[in-house]
Amino acid sequence: MASLEDPLYVVLDGKRTKLLLSSLEMRTVGDLLGHYPRRYERRGELTDIASLRDGDHVTVQAEIAKVTSRPMRNRRGTIFEATVTDGRGHLILTFFSKGRQDWREEQLRPGLCGLFSGQVSTFRGKRQLAHPDYELLGTGDATARAADYASEIIPIYPATARIASWQIAEAVREVLDALGVEDPMPRRIRERHGLCGLLDALSGIHRPADDAHLRSAIRRLKWDEAFGLQVVLAQRRLAATAYSAAPRPKAPGGLLDAYDARLPFELTVGQDLAGQQISDELALDHPMHRLLQGEVGSGKTVIAVRAMLQVVDAGGQAALLAPTEVLAQQHFRSITDQLGPLARAGQLDGADGATRVALLTGSLGAAARRRALLEAASGTAGIVIGTHALLEEQVQFADLGLVVIDEQHRFGVEQRDALRSKAGDGRPHVLVMTATPIPRTVAMTVFGDLEMSTLTELPAGRSPIGTHVVPSAEKPHYLERTWRRLREEAERGRQCYVVCPRIGDERDARAGDAEEAWDAARPPVAVLDLAAELEQGPLAGLRLAVLHGRLPPDEKDRVMLAFAAGSVDVLVTTTVVEVGVDVPNATAMVIMDADRFGVSQLHQLRGRVGRGRHEGLCLLVTDAEAGGKARQRLDAVAATLDGFTLSRLDLEQRREGDVLGAAQAGRRSSLKLLTLLKDEDLIGDARKEAQALVDADPALAGTPALAAAIRALLERERAEFLEKA
Ligand code: ADP
Ligand code: MG
Repeated sequence: MASLEDPLYVVLDGKRTKLLLSSLEMRTVGDLLGHYPRRYERRGELTDIASLRDGDHVTVQAEIAKVTSRPMRNRRGTIFEATVTDGRGHLILTFFSKGRQDWREEQLRPGLCGLFSGQVSTFRGKRQLAHPDYELLGTGDATARAADYASEIIPIYPATARIASWQIAEAVREVLDALGVEDPMPRRIRERHGLCGLLDALSGIHRPADDAHLRSAIRRLKWDEAFGLQVVLAQRRLAATAYSAAPRPKAPGGLLDAYDARLPFELTVGQDLAGQQISDELALDHPMHRLLQGEVGSGKTVIAVRAMLQVVDAGGQAALLAPTEVLAQQHFRSITDQLGPLARAGQLDGADGATRVALLTGSLGAAARRRALLEAASGTAGIVIGTHALLEEQVQFADLGLVVIDEQHRFGVEQRDALRSKAGDGRPHVLVMTATPIPRTVAMTVFGDLEMSTLTELPAGRSPIGTHVVPSAEKPHYLERTWRRLREEAERGRQCYVVCPRIGDERDARAGDAEEAWDAARPPVAVLDLAAELEQGPLAGLRLAVLHGRLPPDEKDRVMLAFAAGSVDVLVTTTVVEVGVDVPNATAMVIMDADRFGVSQLHQLRGRVGRGRHEGLCLLVTDAEAGGKARQRLDAVAATLDGFTLSRLDLEQRREGDVLGAAQAGRRSSLKLLTLLKDEDLIGDARKEAQALVDADPALAGTPALAAAIRALLERERAEFLEKA
């Protein structure tokens, strides 16, 4: 009996072992059996050749009886014809080509059976399919054997130029016949959820006897994917509790209390609750791993600052990691402002027990950088804010107690770990914040090793944001009205963003290359072009500024400062303002070529307006066709302000792999059947079962087959991760 880990040569001959390795990188029995059919042909849907009618689109199963190839009469090229039969009638398959067709002759050999699909026509009294699609099923013998087990449903495999679907099917059949496995899924769990055994599932997905067999196979194999992942995550959560961390309990009368007293608003109920959860966990002697997710503008930063101050009050330091320079600068400024004298230790007007806030980014001058490094290492700075520069080796802390990661989706797991490792003996507490809400299943898989706090409400008194689609192609005058609207806002003393998908300026070689790739009618609107145009035309006289990633860091900072101070009316920018930027006096945003942005990105972008007393306005300019897919996405964004709804939509429209992201490299291929949106209940059930199992038996000693399967899963993830790195 062969097992899943066995190399393929244990079952198959050397020739096919080599072919499977070279064409599909398959080494083991498990690799082959994990290559699921791409689709299934149903014999019930196949048509008798005798009953074909002109114009019908049909799929027939037939054996190739004879083939001919001849030059075309009036043109250069060849005509290749294969006559096929299903025993009742004959049909001609015709292929025209400008060149020779030896390779097709090689493929379509007499004696082979296959499925042929196309539109029926009649030529010189004979029924034919011109250029049909086909899948070969092997020799007549093989098909007869195939008919034994799969009389209804024929699997079609993802094939390559070098190996046909039928060759894979044949190898799978031989391997399945030789397979013996111990089911890694504990029997009680199988019974509770009505899951079939693993062998049955493998034969069901490759050689389904009927639809019910296939369905139960898919369900069981989805469970394997979800359950395996959840066991890994449960083990990770458990392992995390085994690490020690310095407890940082709340100390009354410290900076946190003083900060709360200075806050110009009441915390929302949600902020209060999340704050309490975090505060309690910081007091424990093992590290907190918590994800704080919430609607754009729900006030996550305040929660982070309060957590950091609790740690500072307890004698530790906190690091805040931001994804961009602009955001790090902004956090630094606003947190320093909010703290006032509380952040001016060592200065004349510093409060008693005050701390300091340090900023560490890649663009600091040598002197400023030295000062920041020193403040972090000596412990003078209770709070250190920075970008990726915080992860560098030279950065050291006196006593790092808490790591806050803002807008997590831009950071990978390794970066979390890099920062975590700076905490000396114990481990720091970790708080991760997402930019936009994420669907529950994404939370359970991508962030599944974290506990979760969710903010669903916005602070009271927030002004609504009105969002409208501006179809610039159908209604060009709408665009003129858009600019008039911005002018009105500016005249009322409010500020506006204009967001473009591209920076522009052809002197940049890379931009030039990229433009060639846009073989479409026109390249996307560029910041530099549009800013010049607006300045001359529709927005003449207003104070315009541009912001984008190619500006030198201190220039970026200067522009953001000027905008925040109200001395710029209109900021023409790329998505560098996407995350976190907070200027309450900004009321309007125009997004050019809005169809080029993702749904969550648009939601995040528009969250930059309507942050103050005044109503926000977001205009999505597009020339995408009305009714088309791109337009529907924009209409959806315009129709709701609910980030959870939009994040589901986003997930529906992107491939799962993109959602899981490069940081979860290996996970991409271990989720083959599971879809995060549709299988929400299943993932939830698997999570519960996994948690219960790991709670009762952390090392999986009682379920050795499962323990082995998990080891193999981790091994695969690691191998793939290394390949990508
Ligand atoms: P996000 O969750 O998107 O990161 P921020 O933390 O940037 O949101 O908060 C958005 C704005 O709301 C900030 O200006 C912040 O000062 C303000 N804010 C936060 N909490 C409250 C509250 N409870 N009441 C009123 N305003 C608040
Ligand atoms: Mg934020």
